Amino acid sequence: MPTLQERAVHEAAHLVVACALGCSPHRVSIRTSRLGYGEMEYELRGLKRNSCDAKLAKAVFKIAQKRIIVASAGFLAQELFFPGAQQIHSKQDRAEIRRFTKLLAGLTVPRQRRHVAAHVLYLRLRALRLIARHHGKITKVARALLNKRELDGKQIAYLMRRQA
Ligand SMILES: [Zn+2]
Repeated sequence: MPTLQERAVHEAAHLVVACALGCSPHRVSIRTSRLGYGEMEYELRGLKRNSCDAKLAKAVFKIAQKRIIVASAGFLAQELFFPGAQQIHSKQDRAEIRRFTKLLAGLTVPRQRRHVAAHVLYLRLRALRLIARHHGKITKVARALLNKRELDGKQIAYLMRRQA
């Protein structure tokens, strides 16, 4: 079982990376629930009602990429912040990555489909870069999570506004 510190860093990384990608998370928690050892809730917009199919596909592709980056951020940050610690990867995160990788493959023309796995690796790299760039903010949100166990949208917005 991951320690509370590990859980806090994991969820804080999901949150800070989601914010860096333009999303506004409305809840984050390190309480144990039926979903696992914590959770972070956010929404992604970007679909216009009267988009043509090509635009719609492009928007869905972008959303799927962001979902993969945000889902990867949790365990990547755990590995960076706690090197050598036993990693317990969340099933939800892995299922999310698999689901959106399939979606990306479905939106890719057949002759380019073999590049999807490499593209997903590149998305992980983007997650890593965002974690490195926002290292201080992740530490700050993790500290707040350790104190309060759960943060709502208002508390998250306040923490993200202030300098790391
Ligand atoms: Zn996670």
